[in-house]
Amino acid sequence: MTRFRTFAIMGWSGDGGTGPAPPETAPIASVVRDGHSTAPEYLRDRRAAEDWLATLIEAESAAGRRLMLGFDIPFGTPKGFARALTGADDPFALWDWLRARAEAAPDGPDISGLPRDKTDGLTPFPACRQTEKPLGLATDCWRTEGADAPLGRMMTGLPVLARLRHRFRGRLAVWPFEPPDKPVVFVETRPSLTLGPPPQAMTGAARPTEHMALKLAHMPPEDLAQLLNVRAPEEGWILGVAPDLAPPPLRDDCFAMPRGVDWIPVDTALERLQAILRPVTGVETVQSGAADGRIIARDCIAARAHPPAANAAVDGYGFAHAAIGDGVQTLQLAPGRAAAGRPFAGAVPHGAAIRILTGAALPEGVDTVVLEEDTTTDGARIAFAGPGRAFANTRAAGEDVQAGDPVLCAGRLLRPPDIALLAACGIGEVAVHRRLRVGVLSTGDELLADPSVPAGPYDVYDANRPMLLSLVRRWGYEAVDLGHAPDDTAEIAARLDRGAARADAILVSGGASAGDEDHVSRLLRDRGALSSWRVAMKPGRPLALALWGGAPVFGLPGNPVAAFVCALIFARPALSALSGAGWVRPFGFEAPAAFGKSKKPGRREYLRARLDAAGRVEVFRSEGSGRISGLVWATGLAELPDGAVEVTPGAPVRFLPYAGFGL
Ligand code: AMP
Ligand code: MG
Repeated sequence: MTRFRTFAIMGWSGDGGTGPAPPETAPIASVVRDGHSTAPEYLRDRRAAEDWLATLIEAESAAGRRLMLGFDIPFGTPKGFARALTGADDPFALWDWLRARAEAAPDGPDISGLPRDKTDGLTPFPACRQTEKPLGLATDCWRTEGADAPLGRMMTGLPVLARLRHRFRGRLAVWPFEPPDKPVVFVETRPSLTLGPPPQAMTGAARPTEHMALKLAHMPPEDLAQLLNVRAPEEGWILGVAPDLAPPPLRDDCFAMPRGVDWIPVDTALERLQAILRPVTGVETVQSGAADGRIIARDCIAARAHPPAANAAVDGYGFAHAAIGDGVQTLQLAPGRAAAGRPFAGAVPHGAAIRILTGAALPEGVDTVVLEEDTTTDGARIAFAGPGRAFANTRAAGEDVQAGDPVLCAGRLLRPPDIALLAACGIGEVAVHRRLRVGVLSTGDELLADPSVPAGPYDVYDANRPMLLSLVRRWGYEAVDLGHAPDDTAEIAARLDRGAARADAILVSGGASAGDEDHVSRLLRDRGALSSWRVAMKPGRPLALALWGGAPVFGLPGNPVAAFVCALIFARPALSALSGAGWVRPFGFEAPAAFGKSKKPGRREYLRARLDAAGRVEVFRSEGSGRISGLVWATGLAELPDGAVEVTPGAPVRFLPYAGFGL
């Protein structure tokens, strides 16, 4: 197929626009033909838009120009909805269904039961399409009211597209449901969400559509082919959203424990998690200067050497070492000087010297520099003691990094020095993992979300959610607040649904053991392929692990102290593996104990601890797992091994500072 020559991007609207003047929300279109923008088309209403589209298709076909037409109209619906409505998964059945209804009811079809403005978990279908997840559109998807409501735009837009599709059958393909190999291809676009802000030079209401049309028109054909290389046969896809080419999702039964396994040691649990979890995030490209805290997805190769050329390491005088002998050397000064960014253009005669400053590229005829302080000069000559060392006070080209060297490996979490190295080596953009999104949910009838509202004696302010959200942010992930749910299975399920649509992994606290009110475990067991890992560890009752809608769920204890410790020990390495940064172990060391304790065998213990002024490990006065103040008092955890130990003052114990957990 030849390449596209015309790109037309339309901004649709959910508004009828039947008044005398085109309303603000009337359709607008930007056309770029053979690389050049034409004046934007302001269309009075949807009928005018349909006529204009048909005329454009005819004209471009007649001229033999392939045409890509983009619309900000969802081409499909979240999985399962089309089947429920039409009996088939085929998205075109939905297009024709909407077209038939629209023709029967010109004011727009009404799908009974759909909320017009509020959407929270009220339909049995996923909250959004896969393509909308990375755009953060999850909560918006089922809204019909308002010009920007996706479903509203769909109900008014798809009947038009369905008619055009039939009219130009054989010449027109709808991506991604059909291969984009026809003279006319329809694509779904959301310029303002998939592109950055349009350049300042663009003005007027057509800025986003024009920006998109230009971007597509000037994109190398192989990049466009890459964008079109998406499989989404049921829900459709927004062009420009990077398809999550991450490995397939985790298997539903991945957390299952072999039969007969009862209590497992902490290390065994960690090894199992490490074996199961792998990166689940797609890849995007960012400016290297803005990549601090991101995880690189591909090895970075130096585009140029550092330093790029041999240069002076000090202020002084440069000359050829071969011209120098023993004893006092007197050299003629060549006119001119070499400075950083201002090279000396000529060659320095053999046996002469030139004034040179730190960072200046060595001129031809110079391989060695003598430090200014080691010379005397009368302005025409310099004198110093020979012979010195060849190449003294110079830096060789590429002595730090050679062009083509791999400088940073995939999986690395970027820190400020990495940013410096990327810049120095001429690497302007890096492929990084999309930020892992981590949902946090609290459960419990007793919980009150907002500590500034008055509480009754039975109420408990939700401490875990703000703590876990903060942890997630500290670890560099995108925190998704899933709120708090009472001990009610339906409510928890609705929140988990929302979590699975908006996040890659979910941390739930509370309700995770086996008691009457432990609705989280019950729900996960019934619907989420729960595995309760009975980890031999204190604090922390069973660790509930499950997949919910493809997202791993970590069920943490309700007790804030236990929730915190379990998050550090289990959630941190697990999330790191999911994020693309690989498995991580806490950093720790041994120090003499400032306390005594005798511990029975059979489980590992983590005590709230800190180093005293003498560098000894002291522990919090109480092991009560409800005491958050102890977590605050501590600066880390003392780790007591699985077996029996008799800790006596002065004996070595392992201390894991909070800093070693990335805090
Ligand atoms: P659970 O695991 O649900 O049985 O809760 C154990 C204990 O932790 C109970 O005392 C709860 O009230 C308390 N708890 C549970 N969730 C939270 C939370 N989000 N914030 C503070 N305390 C909590
Ligand atoms: Mg509870």
